[in-house]
Order: sequence, then structure tokens, then C-alpha cells
Amino acid sequence: MFLSGLIRLAAQVEKNRACVKLCKELEPSQCIFPDILKLVETPGDSDNWTPSKLKLVKEAYCAQHNKMCKIETSKDDCGLLGAPCILFSKYGKREGFQNLEGKKLHDVSTRFQQRSGVSLHENVPDFDESYLTKNLKSHSIQRTLLDPRQFGHPNRRLRSWRICLHNKLKVWKCDLSLSELADVLLAPLDVKLALDHSCYLTASRADLMTHSVFSDKDLQGSQQKHLALFQAKLPDKQLYDLSANPNKRRRVETKESALPCLTTSSTLWSEKAGRLMLGKEQLHSLGYPSTNIGAQAARVDPVNLDNFTEASLRRMSGNGMSLPCAGFVLLMAVLFVEDK
Ligand SMILES: [Zn+2]
Repeated sequence: MFLSGLIRLAAQVEKNRACVKLCKELEPSQCIFPDILKLVETPGDSDNWTPSKLKLVKEAYCAQHNKMCKIETSKDDCGLLGAPCILFSKYGKREGFQNLEGKKLHDVSTRFQQRSGVSLHENVPDFDESYLTKNLKSHSIQRTLLDPRQFGHPNRRLRSWRICLHNKLKVWKCDLSLSELADVLLAPLDVKLALDHSCYLTASRADLMTHSVFSDKDLQGSQQKHLALFQAKLPDKQLYDLSANPNKRRRVETKESALPCLTTSSTLWSEKAGRLMLGKEQLHSLGYPSTNIGAQAARVDPVNLDNFTEASLRRMSGNGMSLPCAGFVLLMAVLFVEDK
């Protein structure tokens, strides 16, 4: 089965220590290589990297086993890649591949994609498509835009998703492309949602007790200032992102009452609940079983996140992929490829 090697390589490209810690808890037997740049031999002039020039190393430091471990990849692997989107995001400086540090991370991930039979690739809608067309000539690439709201989740996170299939794979003849399948199978973006963002405010009493977020008096100075400005300027709104100054950026719920797109600095204040949304709840909004209710809905055990700081949980949710979207693309990839 081509999915057998799904989680061989958990390369964490942003060296986010909390993310490595989470991988350790989720996949206790798998190797975790925290520094993706160490997975390749650096050619002389690193400013002129192209993915094909990069030679993969045989072993690298593994954070799970605290030693050098073998890197095992094969054509049967299915990779899931979301290399840094800040190069293309409207919330960043839009440097694109002019930012060489960021480009290197994309180059190494693309080197793995070149080797993989199947890879799933996620980025923001403004991602530079020509980069993949140029570097994955041996693969056919199908692209679609997806958003959790199409799955009934009141969370705005519009992303471009791709399935990259190696030309040597046997593929079922399918008359519909990935984006046509998404159109047929998923709700349109403008459909009225049954739930609003408040469905994510599900933290247990124990969770709330460990965080002093019960009133605006517990907020930091700039957050208090932003909250007062939001309340004065946008009194009909229910959710304010206190990391933004409303005079510059009005980060509030969408017009259908969905969560605004989470960023790594998002600090969401609910007027209805009179408190901040917890990091666990932000992860829940992406489909992770981080709260009891979210885990029950997914019929899995909740992940224990008690040893993570609020800031690191928020940061991970801002960097995270939406699981219903990832699951949809994975399912479509399974449908496309003929089993051996
Ligand atoms: Zn290992």
C-alpha cells in the first residue's frame, strides 16, 4: 500500500521546539528530524541552490531518539508538505523566493517531493506556482483551493492544496480534476454555516482555571488598549484579535461569524465569553483533538497539551494545517492512485 510510509519523516521546518515536542507525544516510535536544512549536503554556493542539486544525507540528528538516525524514504512514501507560507502571505512582506533562507526550506522539501511517489502540498493562495512546475517535471500536479468552511467548520483558512503524483505511478482514469471533485463533493464557500465561531469555546473548567483569562483586567497593557478600541469602534462584533490595533487592521470574525484566519500571533478575545480563546481551542478549530469535546467528535483520545505554554499552542495553531482539508486531499490522492 502506497500510504505505508506516511509518517516516516516529520521534518519541522521552523525549528519550533513545541512542535517537535508535540510530534514526540503523537508518534513515540517515529524519528523526528527537527532541522530540515541538515537533511541535505550543502553545495558550495548555497545562494544558487536548486532542489535537484541537493544531495540527501543518509542519517541526521533525530530529536526522538537523541542520536543520529537513518533517514528512510522510498518512492512509496506519501509526503505532506507545508513549507513556510510567510514568503507569500498577505500578512508578511511578500518577499517570495527573494528571501533565501525561506527558499532553502522550500528547496529541501521539494527535493523530498521529487523523490516521493505522492506528495500533498499546502500553502497560501498566493504561493508561486511556477516554482513547483519548474522543479517537479516528473510529476503531474493538481491544485485546488480549500477552506474549512466548506466542511461546515466556522473557521476561515483559505489555502491552496496540491496533489503531486509521480508519472511512473499507475493512476485511475478520472474525468474530474481535483478542483472539480472539490466543487462536486464540498459545500460552496458562501453557504450559510450552521455553527458560528463560539462552537470552539469548549475548554473544560480545569483548563480555564489554569489560565487567568477571566476578565479584561488579566490582559497585558497593549491587549487592554486594543480591546477598548475594538469595543468602541466595532461594538456589534463578537470576536476581536487583540494582537492587532483596530486602527490599522480590523481582525474580527468574518461576516458569517467564522473565526478569522489564525496567525501565529493571534490572541482572540470573545465578547460573549468575556475571555481569551485558549490555545487548545485554537488548535481545536483546525480539527486537532486538543479539547475533550473535539476529541470525542473525532472518536480519539484527547492529546495531552498540559505541558505546553499558551504562546506555543497559539503559535502552532497559526502555523497549522486544517485537518479536514488535509484529510480531503489525502482521500482524493488515495482515489487517484491504483493500488498495487
Ligand atoms: Zn530516530
